[in-house]
Amino acid sequence: MNIDIKAAPVAADADLDTPVIACVGVIGAGQMGNGISHVCALAGLPVVLLDVKQEALDKAIAIMGRNMDRQVHRNLITAEDKSAALARITASTDYAAFGDCDLVIEAATEKEEVKKAVFRTLLPHIKPSCMVASNTSSISITRLGAATDRPGKFIGMHFMNPVPVMKLVEIIRGIATDEPTFEATMALAHRLGKTTAVAEDFPAFIVNRILVPMINEAVYALYEGVGSVPAIDSAMRLGANHPMGPLELADFIGLDTCLSIMQVLYEGLSDSKYRPCPLLVKYVEAGWLGRKTNRGFYDYTQTPPRPTR
Ligand code: NAD
Repeated sequence: MNIDIKAAPVAADADLDTPVIACVGVIGAGQMGNGISHVCALAGLPVVLLDVKQEALDKAIAIMGRNMDRQVHRNLITAEDKSAALARITASTDYAAFGDCDLVIEAATEKEEVKKAVFRTLLPHIKPSCMVASNTSSISITRLGAATDRPGKFIGMHFMNPVPVMKLVEIIRGIATDEPTFEATMALAHRLGKTTAVAEDFPAFIVNRILVPMINEAVYALYEGVGSVPAIDSAMRLGANHPMGPLELADFIGLDTCLSIMQVLYEGLSDSKYRPCPLLVKYVEAGWLGRKTNRGFYDYTQTPPRPTR
């Protein structure tokens, strides 16, 4: 990982109009929120991490510690970098903790009404100059921004999972997003050691517009009996040279997130080719969400994980 560890705040080169980001807030302490907090803290930024559940916060701090230990063992960071980074993170269930933040990145559950409710609660607690980003995988940035009091300072910052490892951040401007907000979030992504791809505000942007329909098609192949779970995954690993099979990847992303993205594509583009597979719907209804619930297309209580179909 190529992270620039500095304590200085972030600003684009010699551009006095670009807002400075000296403190970052993160909402949602799930797999993405903990990854975003991890990379921001390692890059020298104070981080305020919030979740509705204290247990999610405790789990996120423990996961960040374990993931940083792995980086220490690989000589990517030192033990001092790890303890300094963890010391920069404040975990809270109280939105008042965001008072000093210059940017708050929302990484709560992929549901539009959840995100809009989060913004309604957040806005009274942040400075007028504070920018707001959403890590949404698919929902319209323009629509989310319009639900806030600051559409000009609202932007999409789509990190990839796992955040400390994956190099890309998609940056998505809503129709109202102003240039300083765009420049500041680009500068932040680069400071975190990431490469940016700028996507237009269309459903699911670039990566998930292409990736998630492929996953949905793999679930259809399973549903129609074209192949078993291991056959589909090894066919795509060995036949298309993908590092993970599509069903393994779906479990890794979270089946609820995959389904939400398909629903956004289906509704947003009004095209039947994005119809979510009924088997994906059934797994989500069963609460089989993949790795995060220990069961999806594989059962993760078994070693090695056992296919569930
Ligand atoms: P997750 O289920 O692991 O975590 C979501 C967290 O949000 C949970 O801890 C939950 O308690 C919290 N939460 C729910 N409602 C909340 C609220 N009202 N206020 C504060 N916290 C709340 O989900 P995730 O995989 O981390 O996904 C989070 C976001 O990141 C989604 O928008 C998702 O689409 C996006 N995303 C996910 C991936 C991925 O591979 N999983 C990749 C890129 C982006």
